[in-house]
Amino acid sequence: MKIELIPNKFFGEICGEYDLSAILDGAGYLKIFPLRAELKYEVHGDRVEISGKITVKFEAVCDSCGGAADIEYLSVIDGVFTKGGGNDDYYSYEGRVIDLTQMLTDAVFAEYPSRVLCSEACKGYCFGCGKNLNDGECGCSRRSANSKT
Ligand SMILES: [Zn+2]
Ligand SMILES: [Zn+2]
Repeated sequence: MKIELIPNKFFGEICGEYDLSAILDGAGYLKIFPLRAELKYEVHGDRVEISGKITVKFEAVCDSCGGAADIEYLSVIDGVFTKGGGNDDYYSYEGRVIDLTQMLTDAVFAEYPSRVLCSEACKGYCFGCGKNLNDGECGCSRRSANSKT
């Protein structure tokens, strides 16, 4: 996703979709949906401020039960691009085109769940037989797990 700066245009909006699979490297995901971005930009000389939000959506393998987990979250974007520069605080751009890839990548991982779960109440899988316990009990004796709920 890119913003093309137009002379004498000092602010604008950019809304659209971006291929999230370019950011989330394929392995480990069952399905990756396009990232949706709603961003605003403001130009102050060679400094461009960008803010807005992105929605990230994908289907991955639940860390707890091994089933499919639908993950969707919002990440807020707030950053500054400077021409030819770029350091820990700013992104850099050249010419009139601002490439948002790095900023979108940072925003995706800023809110990325530390544990991918199919639901908060995921029961996990049975260590005895490997059955996904969200689909029902398996018959193995698991006193500790049964007493939890
Ligand atoms: Zn699960
Ligand atoms: Zn079992």
